[in-house]
Amino acid sequence: MTTVQVAEKRSVRALLAAAEQRRLAGDYRSGCAAAREAAELAAALGDAAGHAEALRSLATQLLRLGRHEEAVTACRTAVTELEALGDASGVCEVLTLQALPLTDLGMHEEALDVLARARDIAQQLGNRDLLYWVHNRTGVVHGSMGDRELSNDYLMQALRMVDGMDDEARFCILNNVGDNAVHEVARLQGLGDAKGAEATLTDALGYVAEALRLARAAGHPFRESISLDNYGMLLALAGDLDGAARLIEQSRQIAVRAGYRSLESGALQHQARIRLMRGYHAEAIEGLLLALDRAREAGEKTMAMEVLRELSDAYEMAGDPVAALHHYRAFHDLERELHNQVAAARARMAAHHFELDNARLEAENARLETALHRARSAELAADNLLWQRQATEDALTGLPNRRYVDERLPKLAAAGGPLCVALADVDLFKRVNDEYGHPVGDEVLRRIATILLEHVRDSDLVARFGGEEFLIALNATGLQDARAKCELLRANVAAYPWEHLRPGLRVTISLGLAEVTGTGTLADAINLADQRLYDAKRSGRNRVNGTQI
Ligand code: GH3
Ligand code: MG
Ligand code: MG
Repeated sequence: MTTVQVAEKRSVRALLAAAEQRRLAGDYRSGCAAAREAAELAAALGDAAGHAEALRSLATQLLRLGRHEEAVTACRTAVTELEALGDASGVCEVLTLQALPLTDLGMHEEALDVLARARDIAQQLGNRDLLYWVHNRTGVVHGSMGDRELSNDYLMQALRMVDGMDDEARFCILNNVGDNAVHEVARLQGLGDAKGAEATLTDALGYVAEALRLARAAGHPFRESISLDNYGMLLALAGDLDGAARLIEQSRQIAVRAGYRSLESGALQHQARIRLMRGYHAEAIEGLLLALDRAREAGEKTMAMEVLRELSDAYEMAGDPVAALHHYRAFHDLERELHNQVAAARARMAAHHFELDNARLEAENARLETALHRARSAELAADNLLWQRQATEDALTGLPNRRYVDERLPKLAAAGGPLCVALADVDLFKRVNDEYGHPVGDEVLRRIATILLEHVRDSDLVARFGGEEFLIALNATGLQDARAKCELLRANVAAYPWEHLRPGLRVTISLGLAEVTGTGTLADAINLADQRLYDAKRSGRNRVNGTQI
């Protein structure tokens, strides 16, 4: 890695740290910008871990800004990269995160799906922290689907696990339980369960007061705003409308300052609800219309739908059935639009998923092709080596073959200095084959090859020249020394304990020797050696014929 790359990688870390700092301060707009920059730089550097981390930070903050679809896309890409990196807990965390924007998009099934995957991973890893977050989020999704009881079950499971968790985790669960209680109390009251409603309310007020304390201690405006709103709604249910109005107004002001449009819209909606409880219809309608604007600006269609429905109710209470009907229709239209939007978002995300899969497949293909190419080249190189060896090596004895001699001998001759060539032929070898069989004949040839090699120098050449014929080139050796060397070879073959191979077996060789002289060619020397070999055979075999010319 170059210095520039090291510096760039460090700046990915710096950008990530900045994004995280801004996220913790609730400044999601500039946090998103830093995270996006980190993601782009990490991608350019091929820093997969940095890229995944940046996408995760980006998704968390996009979500807070109401940009749910972008958040889902960022999560998906991060999951793919974390899977490739083998980071199971990272995958679990991002899947848990992904459930939130999916829920906000109205894609509840998909949200429960990713949570089921996350739960499997958390359980496999036996990681309590991860499991806590999965329970927490599963509670939120069920609540958003209107199943307050199931939501409560999950949230309570998470709440029981919160001991020892950090303040962010504590805040989240306390706030979620409080938020769920707002609906749960209304449901229990509707069922005529006054006692249950009362108990839930008392507990929830305690949780939310604690959540608000944590949010303020952390100096986190988003958390403070959201817990003030929850606290206010619970106070309203407890009958403290003044206290409720005060807290919700505080929530709204923080939301306006920090640009949390969905929280602002929520606060406006809740203020209107309190006005309706007090019988101030006109003021409630005014607040709801403003809430509708904010929800639309934030692209929060689910929230806008809720506001339209409340507007319809408020107009009806105010004695204006025409306006009530008008807003009821608008509510229905939006519901249909939302339905279509979810379908469209699903299609878009499916396309994105498809692209991701394709990219993954393409990368895998490229990897396989490279590997295949490498394997083929290695195979070719090995083939080539094998072929070269086969071309110059005798398969039976492993000695160089005649072809090699043709290449090598001229080089030895060209080096200058005395050079002798000898041809050695096995005596009456036909008989060996006939009496002991061809395999024994083969073994005899292999052993002769070994004996010859053992008694020459590394600079000499021993080759299989033909069927039972060997060539020995003695480098830097005059005829006299060569004759002595050939005599040594002959004697060693004759003295070899052949009877160990087969009882009664005897093997000898005859040799014809010639010196390569400046006047004649190599071929002349070999021919002369061959003639002398013939003479050696004629004069009784098991002898060396290297007569000086
Ligand atoms: P001489 O002493 O006159 O050389 O008699 P010879 O029997 O050795 O000569 P001849 O040329 O009649 O026979 C050579 C035999 O060597 C014939 C052939 O079958 C055998 N031979 C050649 N190559 C091989 C081999 O690779 N393995 C075996 N087992 N036999 C071989
Ligand atoms: Mg022969
Ligand atoms: Mg022979």
